[in-house]
Amino acid sequence: MIAEAHAPFDLVLRNSRVEGRQALADIAISAGVISHVEDHVTGEGESELDVGGSIVSPAFVQPHIHLDKVGTLPLLGRNVSGTLAEAIEILHRIKRSSTVEEVAARAGVVIRQAVMSGTTRIRTHVDVDTVGGLTPLQGVIRAAREHADLCDIQIVVFPQEGIVRDPGTAELMDAAMRSGGDVVGGMPHWETSDAAAFEHIGICMRLAERYDADVDMHVDETDDPGSTTLDLLIDATAHSGWHGRVTAGHCCAMAAWSDAYAGQVIGRAAAAGLHFVTNPATNLLLQGRLDSEPRRRGLPRIKELLAAGLTVACGQDCVQDGFYPFGAADQLQVALILCHAAQLSIPAEIDAALASIRHVAARIMGIRGYGIEPGSLADLVVLDSDDMHEALRLQSPRRYVIRRGSIVAATKVTTTINRGKD
Ligand SMILES: [Zn+2]
Repeated sequence: MIAEAHAPFDLVLRNSRVEGRQALADIAISAGVISHVEDHVTGEGESELDVGGSIVSPAFVQPHIHLDKVGTLPLLGRNVSGTLAEAIEILHRIKRSSTVEEVAARAGVVIRQAVMSGTTRIRTHVDVDTVGGLTPLQGVIRAAREHADLCDIQIVVFPQEGIVRDPGTAELMDAAMRSGGDVVGGMPHWETSDAAAFEHIGICMRLAERYDADVDMHVDETDDPGSTTLDLLIDATAHSGWHGRVTAGHCCAMAAWSDAYAGQVIGRAAAAGLHFVTNPATNLLLQGRLDSEPRRRGLPRIKELLAAGLTVACGQDCVQDGFYPFGAADQLQVALILCHAAQLSIPAEIDAALASIRHVAARIMGIRGYGIEPGSLADLVVLDSDDMHEALRLQSPRRYVIRRGSIVAATKVTTTINRGKD
């Protein structure tokens, strides 16, 4: 019998190592979608790439970053008094003076860095408040449009200055959802009372219902054990029927809660279908600063969340801004930081860290067709390694980044050791 002849594929990756398969595989791609993953794909591609046994992963996913703030550190100037009040005043000054073009330029640099390191989907929070109005949103929308060939970008409408304590923000958030926002953000612990936090969450949930949007809030990003707005968000999620559509980011106070209270909240979170995003790089740096030794790490209880079957993704949060002077928008780096911060060291835990920047982050963002199977969208990263755990350990170069079947980034690193006189 004659084998069925395939029309030429757009791209075929030969000799790919794919997790879960014993033998090397060929991956054939047509019209941006993976059509075959087989030991040997017959038929040729318009482009062919022999990756020589390198591991091919679904492209990384960034579930939490602030593209409107990235790269602002050099603009901030010195905090003369060293106080939080002055730090906030400096941030406000930057936000007031930003232009759409300037925000788009800074965001664009980091989007391209993310793509070069293997990320093709980003969820960004963007400040919406009475200080900067809708300028940060318009800047990030422009950057997203300018990079639409490289990366998909979801925008979370984020009330950084609070809602109840910043009158006018609720109306601005509504306007932001009408003009390009995808997800409703929030930051209830930033309000000045539990009653105001409750009202804040209510405003956000009603907005989410009005736009049929998912919710992704900054929750209890503090070391204060009395910060318990996660509890309020769980209640609101259950009451609104938004099961599986609400994400809680940061959740640092969980580290300061008693074991008994944390256990009870985690159980309720699981019942309400809440998702979690931890941002270990920023929170390791920021939280626990006022502790004497031993210091808290400021992370949510990662192992307890995983043991309860909850979805835990991992984000970059900040890149070179007033909160965090580092950050390369590289999710493989962030996953390695997560392993250290949450003490993930046995193979199943390392798998969870790798899932937190891949399948789990994709699930939280509602991405369909994520993976390496026939029918998946062809967003892939080819690593200079033959094993994902080794790629994590060695932070292996990303040889190729593929989005919808197009090679959008390539990296070649050559290092030599020279010994002796020759
Ligand atoms: Zn954040």
